[in-house]
Amino acid sequence: MNRRNFLKKSTSAATGLLLPIGLAASGQKTKKKVIVLGAGLAGLTAAWELVQAGHEVIVVEARNRSGGRVLTLREGFTSGLTAEAGGMSFNDNYFNLLHYVKLFNIPYESLSTPVIRNTGGNTVYHLRGRRIVPANGKIDWPYDLKPEEREGSLTDRYIQPLLNGVKDTSLSNSLYDWARSMDNKTLQQVLAESGASEGAQEIIRVTTWYADREARASAARNLLPVLQGAGSKNVYSFPGGVDNLSTAFAVRLGERIRFGAEVVSIKNDPNSVEVMVSIAGKQESIRADRVVCTIPFTVLKNINISPSLSPPKKDIIANLSYAPTTRVFLEVKERFWEGNGENGSAMTDLTIGQVQKHPMIKTGREGDRAILEGHARGQDAIQLDKMSNDNRLKFALEQMNKVHPTVFDYYEGGISKSWQLDPYALGAYSLFLPGQITSWLPEIIRPEGRIHFAGEHTSIYSASMEGAIESGARAAKEINEV
Ligand SMILES: Cc1cc2nc3c(=O)[nH]c(=O)nc-3n(C[C@H](O)[C@H](O)[C@H](O)COP(=O)(O)OP(=O)(O)OC[C@H]3O[C@@H](n4cnc5c(N)ncnc54)[C@H](O)[C@@H]3O)c2cc1C
Repeated sequence: MNRRNFLKKSTSAATGLLLPIGLAASGQKTKKKVIVLGAGLAGLTAAWELVQAGHEVIVVEARNRSGGRVLTLREGFTSGLTAEAGGMSFNDNYFNLLHYVKLFNIPYESLSTPVIRNTGGNTVYHLRGRRIVPANGKIDWPYDLKPEEREGSLTDRYIQPLLNGVKDTSLSNSLYDWARSMDNKTLQQVLAESGASEGAQEIIRVTTWYADREARASAARNLLPVLQGAGSKNVYSFPGGVDNLSTAFAVRLGERIRFGAEVVSIKNDPNSVEVMVSIAGKQESIRADRVVCTIPFTVLKNINISPSLSPPKKDIIANLSYAPTTRVFLEVKERFWEGNGENGSAMTDLTIGQVQKHPMIKTGREGDRAILEGHARGQDAIQLDKMSNDNRLKFALEQMNKVHPTVFDYYEGGISKSWQLDPYALGAYSLFLPGQITSWLPEIIRPEGRIHFAGEHTSIYSASMEGAIESGARAAKEINEV
């Protein structure tokens, strides 16, 4: 396990800002030309930091927009309504993200401010064919449970003790030690060893936001997002859209970003690196001293890299799992759940999975309208992908009607987003299986020749915006120091 502190917190005396150690602090050694592959949060961060350190940067991005898996949907709904199709929320422990939020002065809000989000009321459950509304905070779980499992929270009983060993949730030795200790088994195996009944394991798998729907991932991978939020006062998002964050980088990088430029091959020469991009059907070669590659491995495995990468890296690129996620967004003309003692959200074992409402933060522009989202994961997502668009919406609406029985009266139309069908993502986010954080992550991070790797899949805080940003800053630091 690589236990280096990739990014420490430090305060620049000049600016008082939190800076990735080594970059602004150590200054540039030699000016380099760098090509950054991908304008998601990792690529944008790497590009920004490299520009700040005085390097010449070109970002090549296949899509016609920045943000990658940060995607605020603004089309397809009544004007003023927005929904998040990718990254949504963050917490006080997103140190790297918050550094840029403050640097670029981007407004953000707590999601638990009732006036903003209307969080008052119950989250509904739909489990084993039953709609369940908590009574006095207690849920009548339709599972065989031990008597004591019916009292109090299962998270407090079984998850919290697993996290107690970590004193420091920043990228510290204690975090890496803990991750290694939790990496060899699935969460279900660890829960079973802790005495959780099968019913309790099932509840945690189905009704928590962090547990992998198919129970395949390592316990460390499942629990790292929980640990990442430990001690945070609040969960936040950006009024108006999470793409305010990616756009803040993109406008500052300006013409350094080339949109519609799809990387088709990479050649790692001893003295330079050549990237071939396809722009409007024409191939163009760009040469540089270094490359930061943030392309998800699902996509990268089909891009020719010569000479071939080392066998372990090639093998990992070909085999790293990504979680499937399909989000179906159903617009309703009123927040009809308000006043019912419900908050609109639901945890279900239905194909549509977790139900959330958008916009995450009311801005006033949406009027009375809202969007109810079914967030399908794993095989459920793949099942939705097989349907025609009309059938998918109809199916999601019928399932939503089990959760919110009057939804048909308010429904106005909908859209969906499948991340595994998106050619530049081919999956929602990386999913480390047992043992892979320990044995694969250090390999993933290791540069090969002139290629440096960043992206959520290269961070211990994988599958998060924080992980993407941390990795981009880390890759920029690597390049600045060679
Ligand atoms: C459904 C979902 C929900 C999420 N929820 C949260 C959340 O609430 N909180 C949180 O912190 N995180 C969340 N995340 C995770 C977070 O959004 C991601 O970890 C992060 O945005 C990934 O950034 P990245 O730069 O690593 O990758 P990406 O954003 O995927 O960036 C890679 C870029 O490379 C580009 N690219 C791909 N192929 C090529 C090519 N051949 N040539 C050129 N460019 C190419 C892509 O278009 C993309 O722009 C969520 C993600 C998803 C999908």
